Amino acid sequence: MVTYWQPMLPVLTRQPLLIFLILSMLWAGVWEAGRLLEVGAHASVWYPPAGLSIALFFLIGRYGIIPVVIGVTYATFRAVNLYQIELAFEQVLIASAMSAVFHILPYYLLARYLRALRRQEMGFYANFILNVLSWVPIATLVASIGGLYSLAWSGMMPAEQIGPSLLPFWIGDLAAALALGPVFIGLLSVIVPASMHRLPDTNLQPSKPFNTTSMRRLLMLMMFLLAALYLAAWSDNQHSVYAIFFMVVPHMWIATIEKPFNSAVAVTMSSIIIAIFVPLLGLAEYVLVYQFAICVIAANAIFGLALPALMQHNRKMQQLLETDSLTQAASRDHLINKANAQLARCAVQGVPVSIVVFDIDRFKQINDQYGHGFGDETLSEVARAAQSCLRPCDLLGRFGGDEFVAVLPGATLTQSKEICERIRASITQLQFRHPVSVSASFGIAQSHHETSFAPLFERADHALYEAKALGRNRVVTQLLPAVS
Ligand code: GH3
Ligand code: MG
Repeated sequence: MVTYWQPMLPVLTRQPLLIFLILSMLWAGVWEAGRLLEVGAHASVWYPPAGLSIALFFLIGRYGIIPVVIGVTYATFRAVNLYQIELAFEQVLIASAMSAVFHILPYYLLARYLRALRRQEMGFYANFILNVLSWVPIATLVASIGGLYSLAWSGMMPAEQIGPSLLPFWIGDLAAALALGPVFIGLLSVIVPASMHRLPDTNLQPSKPFNTTSMRRLLMLMMFLLAALYLAAWSDNQHSVYAIFFMVVPHMWIATIEKPFNSAVAVTMSSIIIAIFVPLLGLAEYVLVYQFAICVIAANAIFGLALPALMQHNRKMQQLLETDSLTQAASRDHLINKANAQLARCAVQGVPVSIVVFDIDRFKQINDQYGHGFGDETLSEVARAAQSCLRPCDLLGRFGGDEFVAVLPGATLTQSKEICERIRASITQLQFRHPVSVSASFGIAQSHHETSFAPLFERADHALYEAKALGRNRVVTQLLPAVS
C-alpha cells in the first residue's frame, strides 16, 4: 500500500469540498498542460482531459461529474478568451453546458460499463483489457463528434471545420485516453480517499513505483524514443517518421515485466516526449502519424498488461488439467502422456520401467456405509499414503474411481514389489474418523523395451485382477511373457 500520501488522506476524507476543488483544478491544469503542446488552434497531439475524465468516472463514478463540469466550463471560457471568439456571456455558458454534456455522457457510460465488467471479471483480466481496447475508440469517437458539434452550434467554430477536424479530434482523445488514462487512474487512486472509490482494486496503484532497474529500463526506452524522433527530424527520407511505430516493441517488453503502473508511466512519458518534441523538431506536419503512433503504442502496452495475467491463467488451467482435484495425483491423460515419454526415454537408455496399478478393496462398501464424502476422504488419504512411499522421479496418477497407477522408472519387478508392499502396508495403517479398515490390491508389470503405455498397463491390470481373485490386500507381479 502507498504510505507517502496517507498523512493527507484523513484531511481529504473530512473535506469533500476540498477534494472536488483539487480535482477541478487538476482537470483545468491538465487542460492547460495539453494546450501548451498544441500544434495549432484546436490541434494537438492529444487531448489530455479526455484521459482524466475517463479515469475519474472509472474510479469515483458520478462524483467525477462535478469536477469535470467545472473543468469544462473553465476550459470553454479560456478558449473563448484565447482564440478571441466574439460570444456573449450567456452564449459561453450554453457552449460550456453543451460541451460538458457531450464530453461527460460517452465517457461516463464507458467508465461505468468498464467498471461493472472489472467487478464481475476480477478473475479474467484479459477479457477486461480487450473490452477497454474495443470500447475506448468508440467512446472517444462519440465524444469527438459531440464536442465538434457543440463547438459549431455554440458559434465557437465554423460548421465547415467539423469534417476535417473529426479525425485529429478523435485520435487526440483516443491517444490521451489510452496513453494517460491508466496513469491518471493510478494517481487518482492515491489522491482520492478510498471511501470514494467505486472499485476495490484497480491494479494500477503506484506502490513503490520505480527501483533502479525500472529506472534504467525507462531511460533506455526514452533513448530509443528520442533516437526515433531525431531520425525523423534529420533524415531526408520523410518515411522515417514511421520509425516511431517500432516503439511498440520496448513498451510491450516493459508491460510484460514491470508492474502495471510502471508500464502506464512509461507510455505516458513516451507520449509527453512525443507531444513536446514533435513541434520542437519541426515534425508538426506529421502530427497525425504521431497521434496514431501514441494510440498504437498505448494500446499494445495496455494489451501487454493482460499477458502476465493470461500466462498465469494458462498455467492454472494447465495445472487443473494435469491434476486430479480430489487426490492431487496426476490426471489420467497427464499420467499416460508422462508414462509414454518416460518409456521412450528409458527404452533408449536400456533402463527398465515398472507400471503399478492398484485399486482400493471393497470401496463400494465404504461409500455405501459412510457416504460419498467419507469415500472421498479415503481416496485422498490413500493417494497421500502412496505418494509418501514413492521416489521423486516416480509419478502417481488417478486412473478413475478408486484405481490408481504409478510409473516407476528404473525399477525392476523386485524393486517395484518392495515399493508396493510399503504402500500396501501404509494404506492398511491409515487411521480414519470411522472404524474402517482400508486396503488395496496391486498389479505390477515391467517394460520389455515397450515404448507404449497401453500394453504395459494391460499386463499390470491383469496382475491386479489376479490379486483381487486371490483374496485382495496383496501385490501380484505380472506373469512374465514366455521366452520364445
Ligand atoms: P473391489 O475390491 O473389487 O475393487 O471392490 P470395489 O467395491 O472397490 O469395486 P470397484 O473398484 O468397482 O468400485 C469402485 C467404486 O468407487 C464405485 C464408485 O461408486 C466409487 N467411486 C468412484 N469414483 C468415486 C469418487 O470420486 N468418490 C467416491 N466417494 N467414490 C467413488
Ligand atoms: Mg475397488
